[in-house]
Amino acid sequence: AAKAEGGGRFVFYTRDMTERAMARLRLEASLREATIQRGFELAYQPKIEAATGELTGFEALIRWRHEGATIPPMEFIPVAEDTGLIIDIGAWVLDEACRTAARWALDHGAVAVAVNVSARQLADPAFAALVEDTLRRHGTSPELLEIEITETVIMKDVRHHLPTLNRLRALGVRIAIDDFGTGYSSLAYLRQLPVDVLKIDRSFVNDLPHAPDIASTVIGLAQRLGLSTVAEGVETVEQQRWLAEAGCDHLQGYLISRPLSADAAEAMVMANFALADDMAMTA
Ligand code: C2E
Ligand code: MG
Ligand code: MG
Ligand code: MG
Repeated sequence: AAKAEGGGRFVFYTRDMTERAMARLRLEASLREATIQRGFELAYQPKIEAATGELTGFEALIRWRHEGATIPPMEFIPVAEDTGLIIDIGAWVLDEACRTAARWALDHGAVAVAVNVSARQLADPAFAALVEDTLRRHGTSPELLEIEITETVIMKDVRHHLPTLNRLRALGVRIAIDDFGTGYSSLAYLRQLPVDVLKIDRSFVNDLPHAPDIASTVIGLAQRLGLSTVAEGVETVEQQRWLAEAGCDHLQGYLISRPLSADAAEAMVMANFALADDMAMTA
């Protein structure tokens, strides 16, 4: 069909395709190189208790600085998934997060770190054993680790994921459903799942306070099932106020803090526990 439209268009079309394919190949090659070189970093975004403002943990978010630019995870995680590199990258993320949580616990005090896990990692039959081994290697208490899995990934093949989720849970690791509300979880499914936390997707937090239906429903659902809730993407004081009043347990978003470097996050942990010590001394 392209040919029938004339030579010029055909050439343009193929060149565009070729360029895109080349760019993709270059990205894959750089990603493979970065994986071998461990060329990633973790940023840590704080989560606070909605009722008190107290620091309760961090979400670890991968960062890749490549040729002077930071490439967003939304651009390279899907490539890492397609190529299978996510298995190695994910193992590095887990290792780094567990190592950091153990070190902070030892130096300052215990704070939880949440790690994002993608479809292919969760489907890997060796995943639960990898988590167990990583925790043991760093002496990290399992309660300090939370695994975030998006609703669509978990629900796509619940039965297949169940043994892994049960093993993680048995270790004492917490499981959070990320971007909750974007999929189509039924109450019946949720009840069977070994999960602890629902993270209200940013798009619904963004609708607050004027369109609170979905956020309300998720908080109500979580309360009925005995799960805790985290609102992601909290950007305004109005959203924060609404969420605290609605009984959402934890808040995360730019209003509280942007994702921080490991050093800046550690400073926050240190300040948090220094404050706790002061209060104990004056009590
Ligand atoms: P996510 O797990 O839902 O993470 C939350 C994303 O929202 C992060 O983007 C975070 O920086 C951003 N965010 C936090 N607060 C706000 C806010 O108030 N406003 C706005 N507009 N955005 C906010 P980031 O770091 O670019 O990560 C995007 C996604 O990439 C993550 O979504 C997660 O699905 C994936 N990802 C990140 N790190 C990893 C990783 O280590 N492994 C895997 N498999 N996926 C990861
Ligand atoms: Mg997440
Ligand atoms: Mg999320
Ligand atoms: Mg999200």
